This record gives sequence, C-alpha cells and structure tokens, in this order.
Amino acid sequence: MKKQLIAGLVTLGLFAAPMTGSAESNWKNVNWNETMQEENGSPFNSENYDFVNYSEVDDKLQEIEKNSNRITVETPAQSSEGRDLYVVTISDPEAKGKYGYQKALRKKMFKNPEKAEKFIEKHPDFKVPVMINASIHGTEFVGSDAALQLIERFATANDAKTKELLENHILIFNVVANPDGRIDATRFNSNGIDLNRDFITQSQVETKHTVNLIKEWNPMVFLDLHGYVKAFGGEDHPGLIEPCTPPHNPNYEYDLYSKWAMDQAESMEGTIVDNRSDYDNTNTETSNVNYQTMTGTYIPQRDDEAGWDDYPPIFTPMYAMYHGAYGYTLEAPTNDWDGVKWHYDAVMGALEFSNDNKEEMIKDQIEVFKRGIQFDHPYHTEGFFPKAYILPVDEKDPTATEKAVEHLMFNDIEVSEAKKAFEFDGKTYPKGSYIVDMSQAKAGLANTMLWDGEDITDITPAMYDISAWNLPELWGFEAIEVESTRSLDVKTSDVKKIKTDGELVGTGPYVIENSSVKAVNLVNKLIENGFDVQWGEDGSFHVDASATTDLRKLVRDSGVTVVTDPKVEGKKLTSQKVTILKDGGIYKAQSHAGTHLALERLGFDVKEITPRELAENGLGDTDVFFYSGTSRLISYNNSEANAPFGLENEDQYQAFKQEMQSYVENEGKYIAVGAGASDATKKLGLTSVSVNKGYSNSNGIVKVDYGNQLLTSGFGANDYGFVYQPVWYSNVEEVDVHASFDTGDFFVAGHWENRVGAEGQPVIVKEQNQDVTLIGIEAGFRDHTDYLFRLLSNAVFSE
Ligand SMILES: [Zn+2]
Repeated sequence: MKKQLIAGLVTLGLFAAPMTGSAESNWKNVNWNETMQEENGSPFNSENYDFVNYSEVDDKLQEIEKNSNRITVETPAQSSEGRDLYVVTISDPEAKGKYGYQKALRKKMFKNPEKAEKFIEKHPDFKVPVMINASIHGTEFVGSDAALQLIERFATANDAKTKELLENHILIFNVVANPDGRIDATRFNSNGIDLNRDFITQSQVETKHTVNLIKEWNPMVFLDLHGYVKAFGGEDHPGLIEPCTPPHNPNYEYDLYSKWAMDQAESMEGTIVDNRSDYDNTNTETSNVNYQTMTGTYIPQRDDEAGWDDYPPIFTPMYAMYHGAYGYTLEAPTNDWDGVKWHYDAVMGALEFSNDNKEEMIKDQIEVFKRGIQFDHPYHTEGFFPKAYILPVDEKDPTATEKAVEHLMFNDIEVSEAKKAFEFDGKTYPKGSYIVDMSQAKAGLANTMLWDGEDITDITPAMYDISAWNLPELWGFEAIEVESTRSLDVKTSDVKKIKTDGELVGTGPYVIENSSVKAVNLVNKLIENGFDVQWGEDGSFHVDASATTDLRKLVRDSGVTVVTDPKVEGKKLTSQKVTILKDGGIYKAQSHAGTHLALERLGFDVKEITPRELAENGLGDTDVFFYSGTSRLISYNNSEANAPFGLENEDQYQAFKQEMQSYVENEGKYIAVGAGASDATKKLGLTSVSVNKGYSNSNGIVKVDYGNQLLTSGFGANDYGFVYQPVWYSNVEEVDVHASFDTGDFFVAGHWENRVGAEGQPVIVKEQNQDVTLIGIEAGFRDHTDYLFRLLSNAVFSE
C-alpha cells in the first residue's frame, strides 16, 4: 500500500478538479519537493479511489491562492508528527482583510449580546462564519477532497450562486484535520488517539488547533465531514446527516439548536437528491449504494429512536454546539468521487439554508450566550445549573486544579479567584480559591465539564460512546457546587495567569506525596537524574538529598510543593524498562494508546512491541510489561483488514504464550489493564481468577473500595474509578484483592445495564505466586483519566 513520492518536476493541471470517478487524476501532476511515504488506501475501506494525498495539498492551495483575491491560507499549527495544519478562510474581497472587525463582532455576541443583536438589525449585510472540518479520521478521505473542491469554487468561481453565498458567509476550512492519519491511512493521529473523541480532554495538538479555530470564529454552522456508512439508512437513503437521536446532553440549549437543525439537515439532503443524476455510481456493485436512485439520506433524529446520540462532548460538532454552533456530523456513503460529491452537495445545501435564514439563526445563537450571561435558562428546570463552582487549591499539590483552570480558560470559560478568604457551607476557603461563576456566555460548556454527570442507563438502550467524563472525578480536583438558591459572598478578580511553579521547602531530606500525575512524573525525573528515591510504606516518596540547584529546578518545573521530612525509608526505586503491547489498529482503534500516553505522562520511558515481534524475539531486558487492549491482539483469526495487527498462526500464538510464561517465570512484572487484557491473561495461563465482563459499550464512573497496600496508595476506601466494558474477578483464592467495586449503589454516572453482579466484586487483583497484576479499572483511558493514572505507576513500583 505504500507509494513512494519522489522529487521531480512535472506539469500542473490544477483547475480541472476531478469530479469524476476516473482513476487517472490530475492531482498526480504536482511538483514534489519532499520524499514522503504515503498510503494510497486503507484495507478497512471497501472501495478506494485516487484521493488527494496530504503532500499534494500545499501546492494545490498555493495555486488557488495565486488566482484568487478571496482566500487566505494559513498554517498556524502542526500535527503530532509536525505536519502543517492548513486553515483556509474565504470571503468576498471586501470582507477579506477585515477579519479583525468580523471577529470582534463575534466576540460582542458573548460579551454583550444585546449590542450584537442591534448590530445585526442595523447591518443586514453581516456575514456568518461557517466552519468545515474535513477528514478528522484519516481513513475517511472524502472530506478533505470535498473541502478542496469547495475551496476552489468559492475562491475562484464567478457564478451568481457562489457570489450570493459569499455575500452572506465567511467560510473557514480545517482542510486536513488529521494529516498523520491521512498519510498513514489510519483513523487516529500518530499518538493513536481518535481525535473525534478528544474534545473534552483536548490532549492532542490537532484538537487544540480545532478548539482555537472554534473559539476564534464562534462559527454559526459547523460541518464535520466523515465517511462511510454506505446505505446504513436503507437503499434509498445513503449517507448520514445529523441531528442525532436521544439522549441529548442536558447542558445544551437544545431547544434553540432544534429550531433549525432538522430543517438545515433536510436542506443538505435536498441538494444531494436534486443533483443525483450527476453521480457516477462508480462502485454500486460492491457498495450497494445507488446514488442515481436515492431519495434522501439517513437523518438519525428523523429516522430512528436511538443509537446515534449527541450526548458526550467528545465529538467535534457536539463540542462546537457548546460555542453556539449548529453542529452536524456528515457521513458520506462511499469512499470514492461520488462520496466527495455527496459531501460537496451537502455543504452547498447547508450554505443555501443559512443564506436564507442567517438573521433568525444567528439571533438564536446569540440567545444561547444571552441565557448564559443572564443565568436565565427557560429550557431547563429550575436549579439545573448551579450558581457557581468553587475550585479549592491544594497547597502542596495544586497541579490537578491548575490543569483544570487552564483548561477551562482555554475553552473560553471565565474563571475568577477569591481576593480574600470566604466562607461557604460552614467551610472557609482561602484567598486564591478559584470560582467559576455560572452567569456567563458559555455556561453550558462550563457545566458539562464540571457537573457530576448522571446515570442514564434507564433512559436509553445503549450509548454510541462514553456517557460520563466528569473532570473533577477523572482529573482529580475538587469542584464544590453552589446551588442556584444559595448565595456566595466573595469578592473576586479575573484570573490572569496561573502560578504553576513548584517549590522546594527546607534543607532536606524531602517527601513527595503520591498525589498526582505531576508528582509521580517528578519522582521519575529524580530517579532518572540519579537521586536516591525511596517509596515509603504509606505510599509517599522520600528523597534523600539536600537543596541543590538541580533539585530546585526539577521541583519548580513539576508544579508540586516538596517539603522537608526527616524520615527516609522504604523501597529504593530504580529506573524501570517498560514495554507495552502495541495495537497497530485492530477494528480501527489503538486500544493500548491511552495507557501508553498515561505512562509517558507519569514519566516512564515506554517501548512498544507488536504481538508478532514479541512472539519472535521475546521481551528482552524488559522489567515491566503492560497488556492494555483487546484480546484480539493475540488471536490469529482476525478478519482480513485486522489480521496484520494480530498473530499469524497457531505456532506464532504458542511462541507468544511461551515467551510470556518464561518472562513471568523469570520474575518479569506483568500488568494487565481492562477487560480485553484480562481475557488475554487468562488465555495465556497467567492468572488463576475467573474474568467476568459487562457489555462492551457499558461505561462510566464507579465507586471503588481501594485497599491499603502500596498498589493502591493515594486512593481511598470510597473513591472513584472509570470502566469501559466493565470487568471484575471471581475465584480469587490465589490472588490478593487490592480493590473492589463498592457495595450498594456503586455507579456514579454513565450507562451500564445489568450491573448488579459486579457489586462489591474484586476489580484489582495480584497473583500470590507470580508478579501478575490485573487492573479492571480503565486507568489510562484516552489520556483522560489523569486521576487514575497513578494506579499504573503504583503497579510498576510495587513488589
Ligand atoms: Zn469518521
């Protein structure tokens, strides 16, 4: 699948945009200036076509730019692997160059909504920003190709329709939202993260870039171009356009979105159908999609009861909705030029709709912000939104709270700090405590990040993805709700800058509490730098050192306060060689990626090994081995597209098993995380317990009773955990149980049917006779569960 692109001079044939299904495309004739290995298709796609490679985008955009006075091409950020992220802005030449003015207008909407409304009435020629986010999933090639064709049209065409749409819109394109994924033909970015699940965490540079664009423009319409659902909604209705089925997240001002979303979706559908005779039907025989006879598309909210929800703000358009956008995911039917055309037509339909309704639509967008500022939410029941949140700061280790405050501010949420100590609910909070006043424009976004979530098991049969993401519980900071009926008497000032420097107090020796990701990261840095670090019986780390410049600097960078403590005792910690089993992309996921990133954030140097490499070469000098991911990694019966990521045959499986068993017999440390890894560990004969599982899509925040051994130090008897496909263990005679689900109602938020059998059951166990640990908690989920990362470092450090 690799094709080598070599430097060379060839002719340009740029303006004959390939709208046909022809295999020969003009895009090939581009002037390469670098050598890059690019995939020309994905085995996960049932059709393939000669899509525009990432390396061709730059020349293409430059060429269009040369011939247009409407376009701006920028590369304000780079992907995880350092590739340019292209932002293209198009407007009529008069508006171009006045973007500062246009953006100021957008800001007015959430600083002073009444003024913004008046402006709109006075200036009916105002322009609404529409953002098009293309191919966030690398294997879904058609999005970027449609974006390029739309860019070419709006930058250069002079027909009446183009001009009219430009009179009323500014178009913002995130042209290739995931460059690494497009090049490698994978769904995720180079860190193995599905970017379209990252919008609550925002752990990846690509995500931050998109958030920046959304904040900068506050687009009125947000279109996220994906593929391929074929004729998922029936033969006559290929493709998919949101709005979604229930459950809708209660933090939206959903009534305002609902006023327009279905009509705009049907306008997109209408434009597609109107043009159906122009489709080529290149792959009808294999795809079963007949574009020429289609009568519509599948609109989940119109055509179904459940199954395609907009509940979690992890998806790009759902996140954009919290900034007041009418957000839609669009799933093209097929991976070919027909799929490209389908997106192109859909976007045109969306623009025609906002062209006709922009004034009323933008008033409702402004209304979202107005409701926030005035703390007046007619769609919500009284008391749904709290009056405020108090975020107290832990003196010794403020790092989790500081990360949260930075995150909130990065997301346009106003945070203030107490100018003096104050009292609430009988408790005194010191000066400097953070306050999130919920009377603000983006109150819905603030609340979806800070609320407790809810148990939605009974309101829907199943969820498409996660159903709980509470930042306080999963990042490990406190957020105290001030109910809407209470009063909070505190003088505050805006937070300008957050103090994130750590501090070394006293002359040593020192103690570091086992309190956060940053604290453990500091421990690893100290070990790496040759400091004497010992792990005490209470779980804290003792550093036998005096106040050197080196130590001071490392502590300052960590953000943690480290104090003198005369006690130096415990197990001496040494640098550990950590290896993780790599999931290259089974079922278009990298199931090990979250745990890998968590270990790196904790400061471990992690090596990846594929199942085949392990079967062939063993684990070498690895001290600690992690299996975190699907059990299919050790199968040789995977479907064709998945096969390369697993094992080849029975012999290879036996070799893998042999390697693992001798590694453990030779006192190697083995740690399994999650349901799939627990299954695999059982299959490999490395554990005596029985592995029990919930449904694969059950997930949420749970209450866990953590034990008092080192393996769970830093966690309490009534503390939090997170599960995705929950797993628990029985027949535990030959293991030590280190944590169990709480008894009684242990489910805090999320969706988990038939969980009664898991109540009070063991969820972290360790074999008594060999160094095998099973962690049923999703401790490293998608770089999100910061609070639980330390379960991984504890497992690495403990005997
Ligand atoms: Zn997708």
